[in-house]
Amino acid sequence: MKRSILQTDEHSCFLCERNGNGDPLEKHHAFGASNRWKSEEDGLFVYLCGCRCHRDGPFSAHQNADTARYLHEIAQEAWEREYGSREGFLARYGKNYLTAP
Ligand SMILES: [Zn+2]
Ligand SMILES: [Zn+2]
Repeated sequence: MKRSILQTDEHSCFLCERNGNGDPLEKHHAFGASNRWKSEEDGLFVYLCGCRCHRDGPFSAHQNADTARYLHEIAQEAWEREYGSREGFLARYGKNYLTAP
């Protein structure tokens, strides 16, 4: 199975480092919808506490715009480091998530 390029420890939450006891970890893809399979292929996913940090909590990836933005930014940075260029990222994902300098 493809490994994450964002997270080396897949047994603790990427955001809060809890180990999933009582709130099992779930896989979150940095880019969803039509880019979800590319996130899977490219290793742009992290493991998060299913309820607290992934789906339901006030700071969770699917409820909180700042958390989602943070994950988009680190995913784009990691992609560019791992696979090449800004142009390559734009061609593949269709959007620049890093604010211009
Ligand atoms: Zn998710
Ligand atoms: Zn967590």
